Amino acid sequence: MTLTVITESLPELIPPIALSFEVFNQCKTEVGKSSVARGIFEILEESAFIIGVLIINREVDSMYIPPFQFNASGTYSGGIAVLNTTSPLQIEGVTLPLGVSLIHELGHAVQYMEDPNAFESKFTTAQSGSSETTQFNITDSEGKALTKDIKNTLIALLSIENDNVARHEAPVCNDLNLPFRKKYI
Ligand SMILES: [Zn+2]
Repeated sequence: MTLTVITESLPELIPPIALSFEVFNQCKTEVGKSSVARGIFEILEESAFIIGVLIINREVDSMYIPPFQFNASGTYSGGIAVLNTTSPLQIEGVTLPLGVSLIHELGHAVQYMEDPNAFESKFTTAQSGSSETTQFNITDSEGKALTKDIKNTLIALLSIENDNVARHEAPVCNDLNLPFRKKYI
């Protein structure tokens, strides 16, 4: 099993909550009726990478920390999924089970494992703070040609997030008869 619930404090990261195992197991149960969710756990548990799950209740939102950014001296070769228990996803006024948030962050670990180089390239661009843009030629609803400049950081972010929502988060919500978003933004 290479999906590891983190129970020790790691340098630079918020310490895990005392009930991390219980919350993790509850999350797994919440999404367990979804075959897509079970598939994500299976991929990660059988992978050669070690993926950490850090469960916290303060300061930072749920996120995925890829291993090229922080890996605790090589321990978490597949990165760390950070889950903040106080900020579950809300869609269409419905508060989703925390397990869906966990699936979202673990979905990023799957994306990383599928193509580490491509993920690193997009992730690094998304976080670069660069103000460079790319020009897109689009057509408005009346058929008029327009050009639009979109920041490269946003393009990279959406390329990661929309793929994760489309392949992991939304299908799991759909399996569980929960409302879902089709796109990250
Ligand atoms: Zn995300």
